[in-house]
Formats: sequence, C-alpha cells, structure tokens
Amino acid sequence: MTNPTAPTIHHKVIILGSGPAGLTAAVYTARANLSPLLLHGPLAGGQLTTTTDVENFPGFPEGIMGPELMQLMEKQATKFGTEIKVDTVVKADLSTRPFKLQGQSGSYSCDSLIIATGAAPKYTGAKNERELLGYGVSTCATCDGAFFRNKVIAVVGGGDSACEEASFLTRFASKLYLIHRRDSLRASKIMQDRVLSNPKIEMVWNKTVVSVEGNKKDGVTALTLQDTKTNEQSTLPADALFVAIGHTPNSQLFVEQLDMDENGYLLHDADSAATKVPGVFVCGDVQDHVFRQAITAAGSGCMAAIGAERWLEGQHS
Ligand code: NAP
Repeated sequence: MTNPTAPTIHHKVIILGSGPAGLTAAVYTARANLSPLLLHGPLAGGQLTTTTDVENFPGFPEGIMGPELMQLMEKQATKFGTEIKVDTVVKADLSTRPFKLQGQSGSYSCDSLIIATGAAPKYTGAKNERELLGYGVSTCATCDGAFFRNKVIAVVGGGDSACEEASFLTRFASKLYLIHRRDSLRASKIMQDRVLSNPKIEMVWNKTVVSVEGNKKDGVTALTLQDTKTNEQSTLPADALFVAIGHTPNSQLFVEQLDMDENGYLLHDADSAATKVPGVFVCGDVQDHVFRQAITAAGSGCMAAIGAERWLEGQHS
C-alpha cells in the first residue's frame, strides 16, 4: 500500500516496463546522464522471460535464452546509472507537468515519461479457462511446461507464439495437440515447418476450445472442442492447455489521455516515438501489433529514449 506521507520521488525520466523496449530506453537515457528510474511490475524482463531460445536477436549466433538476454540488458542499464524499482503503477496523470504516477508502494513524478508497458496474453474465453489457470491451464510454456512431463498437452492458436510454444512443449509432452480454428496456420513459414514436421505434434484443425474439463484437485482432464465448420462438439483428453492466441496491449492507464487504436495499441507520431502529449514517448509491444520482436522493441526503446533526451534538452534552450 502507498504511504500517503511518503515524499513523491522525482526523476527527469521515468520508464515504465522492463522488457527489451524499456531496458533499451534505460541504457540510452542513462548513458545520456538522465539518471532514469525504471518501474516494473512483478514480472521483471517482460515477455522474453517467458520464452526460451531467442535465435533472432543479432549478436548471439548460437542463440540465447530469453531470461538471460533480459538479465544482460538489465545489467547494462544499471551499469550506466538506471535505478530499477518494482512497483506496479496504478494511476497516471499526464494532464500537467511534471507527470504524476501512483504506484502500489510509492508516488512518482517525472518531466518525461517513456511507456514500455508491453502486452498481456489473451484468453479464448472457454469455460473454466481462467478458473484452471495454474491448474493445468497456462499462457507460458517456459514457466509451466516442465510440470507436464510425459503428459498429453494441448496448445491453442495458429500464430508464431502457438507454434513456438508447441515445439518447445514437445520436450516434455508424450503427445502434443495444436488446436487451431482454421485449416491453415498464420505462423511464419519456418515455424509452420517446424510444427508440421514434428512427429510428436498432431494438428487439430478447424476447432475452438469451448470448455476446459477438470478441477483444481485433478487439474485439466480433457477439452471440449467445437468444429468451426460443422459446430459438432468433441472431447479431447488432455492434461494441460497452453493458450497462445495473441496479446492485449497494457495501455489501460492511459485511456482518454493518449491516443490509441481500436485494440488499445498506443499511437505515436509517424517518424518518432512521441505521443500527442509533449514529453511522453512510447515503445515496444504496447505500440506495436505488427512486428512484436525483441529487436524491434529494443529499436523503438532507443527511439523513445533519444526522443525524450532531445525533448528535455529543448525545454532548457
Ligand atoms: P497472432 O499472430 O495474432 O496469432 C494469434 C493466433 O491465435 C491466430 O492464429 C488466431 O487465429 C488465433 N486466435 C486468436 N483468437 C483466438 C480465439 N479466441 N480462439 C482461438 N484462436 C484464436 O499472435 P502471436 O502468435 O502471439 O504472434 C504475434 C506477433 O508476434 C506476430 O507478429 C509474430 O510473428 C510475433 N512472434 C514472433 C515469434 C518469433 O519470431 N520467435 C514468436 C512469437 C510471436 P486466426 O489465424 O484464425 O486469426
């Protein structure tokens, strides 16, 4: 809980989020001597900490594990003077400067704000999906895959995330079903090939999950599926369901303060990371539903940091 008598902590730059976008913004603003404060919620490192091998981040020809990459970025950010604090921001006021942020444990203000709050996993809305989260239903293969060694695992989704999760989970699964609502995958060719050539993976085409069967004591026991063409329902025995159907941007704090698209992704100037509020910059997955890569997030973090640095400089000239 916030202590109402605690003083407001002021920084020239505050960065919200500790994924590749936030940490890159931290490296740049720290190296510009702006002593940034980076605030993040309970999961440090963002979504990359829930992934395994990252094979497409330049500079790591042998690949690198997601959590390790994030630790290295954090080390680099703190080396140059970034202060990192765990505090979930619950309220933001961008109406006047300095901008005000209310965290669960402290109050903050800043001259320039860099928003790198990322995106959160989506759910299918199947019956019992949320109730059995942590009891056989998961959105993170890296976190929970090992709990299902030699078990039957189902993954739902047809994009790169679902294919990546499915391939990774075959390390543990005795059998893996990839359930997709259409008859072709949305994923990139290389990911599709990996999944379709994996003998442990069986595709379940044209099906949605309508209900997750099981309970908190026994975990998941089966899935009730519905055929998207015939509406026929069927039962698929499974011990786990990994949901990998995309993400929702974490932009709720800025509703009615910043412009966003119909899906909640924050909007910024075409040629910079600047929002309509001078001094507020956005980067990473909260503003990108197209690429959503660690490297594009890092690149946009750099743009946001340089934007903030130049904007702050402009305030004093
Ligand atoms: P995505 O590309 O939006 O794919 C979401 C998938 O879930 C789609 O196949 C969609 O079906 C399905 N879906 C959505 N809502 C559903 C529902 N309610 N019930 C059942 N299925 C549902 O999301 P993503 O896979 O998370 O990827 C997002 C971006 O991140 C992409 O640009 C991707 O390339 C990138 N990414 C890259 C990597 C990598 O390169 N290593 C890894 C992960 C993600 P439809 O196809 O029918 O719409």
